[in-house]
Amino acid sequence: MFGLDFIWKKVIEDLSIGIENQQDDSFILILNQFRLAEIDEKSAALVTNESTYKIILSNYVNEIEESFKRVLDKDIRVSISTELEFAQRKDIEDTIEKELYDNVSPEFTFDNFIVGKCNFEAQAAALAVASKPGRREYNPLVIYGNSGLGKTHLLCAIGNYIKKHDRDSKILYISAITFVNEVIKAIKENRIDEYKSQLNSLDVLLVDDIQNLSNKPKTNEVFFDTYNELFNNHKQIVLTSDRPPIEIKDIEDRLKTRFSQGLSVTIQSLENDTAYRIIEQKIKINNLDKSYDIQPEVISYIASNFSTDVRSLEGALNRLIFYAINMSSSDTISLDLALEAFKDQQNTFTTHGHSASDMKVIIKIVSNYYGLTEKQLISKNRTKNIATARHIAMYLCRKYLDESYGKIGDMFGGRDHTTVLSACEKIENALKTDTAYQKAVSDIEAQLK
Ligand code: ADP
Ligand code: MG
Repeated sequence: MFGLDFIWKKVIEDLSIGIENQQDDSFILILNQFRLAEIDEKSAALVTNESTYKIILSNYVNEIEESFKRVLDKDIRVSISTELEFAQRKDIEDTIEKELYDNVSPEFTFDNFIVGKCNFEAQAAALAVASKPGRREYNPLVIYGNSGLGKTHLLCAIGNYIKKHDRDSKILYISAITFVNEVIKAIKENRIDEYKSQLNSLDVLLVDDIQNLSNKPKTNEVFFDTYNELFNNHKQIVLTSDRPPIEIKDIEDRLKTRFSQGLSVTIQSLENDTAYRIIEQKIKINNLDKSYDIQPEVISYIASNFSTDVRSLEGALNRLIFYAINMSSSDTISLDLALEAFKDQQNTFTTHGHSASDMKVIIKIVSNYYGLTEKQLISKNRTKNIATARHIAMYLCRKYLDESYGKIGDMFGGRDHTTVLSACEKIENALKTDTAYQKAVSDIEAQLK
């Protein structure tokens, strides 16, 4: 391609042919106040510093377009603007482009992803994809697993890795919810074809939480078309989901079939050792080790009690630090301090020596479940739903904590041990046949674990 200045000079030369008189000479002078700022197959932008020149030249757009046609043998639409207008338009274009091609959170990388038994398969697959995107064996790559286990982290790590090694690669990270909204918006604004062609120009498409792709036919169709286009051109697609793709309800079968074409890997829940190393890493990353001496038993304690997912680990660590800042003058965070910090929120019942605080947890969870206050739950109120909730709470205290009937009675507003005994029996019996009771108890038990 010729340089922009060169093309513009040729066009001016072409326009000057046949101009002889004075007045037309000034036309050439005005042309020289413009620069050709950009040109592609279809359009060219002429830009000047002076808005007066812009107004004058705007009257000659047809002539200029004809001249471009003669010089380049192409039908080119010419736009005429001031430098300021041009810069503003570029700004808008850049942000549109950025929204589509970027969105990968830079903080999630392979370097800061701790690998353990629960996630090594997913991490290995993600790294393989990032190193050689687009290979059939793992296109698409689907990473699935429960919330908070690192799916988004790995998805972005792939994007960051590819970006680092191939700066020209066009990558889009998008959550399925945003995708649905973007499609709906583009349809409304009459630019769905444009949006589709932007999607089709991608090298890497990373879609997070595809269980949220709604079953709206149009959304599915756009996704399906984009998917096929990218797949057929050996562009890499990576998807995450909270369940195996085949179990996603709201998407069409033809999409599910395609999702199973490549490689699906799962992230399991954390084992203690991995949880331990993740906490260590979070302590380091946040420089907590500079201000506190967090003892290993504390890390083990958090690892074994909050390891359902990484978010819980982070939450527990934050809570502990918050507690230490407010309640302790020492830099050492000991197990005693940690136990103190978590005494109202223990979510495990496997430790020995259950205290009243364990019963408090059950009371809290059960009252939450039934939308009652803790006060109501232990009150003398005998309204049926409150009484039922109370009986279930008593039953759970007995079942999980093995507390004596007397102690449970004390905790529930000073009730007699026979009252507790009969409540527990009542629930045990109901659980044998009544599905409503079975569901309630199993829902609540799920929160206790
Ligand atoms: P998901 O998308 O599966 O719900 P995320 O990727 O959002 O989970 O992870 C939640 C948080 O836990 C993030 O801050 C993430 O960086 C962190 N995290 C998850 N897994 C790991 C890991 N293996 N090593 C380090 N941090 C992790
Ligand atoms: Mg996520």
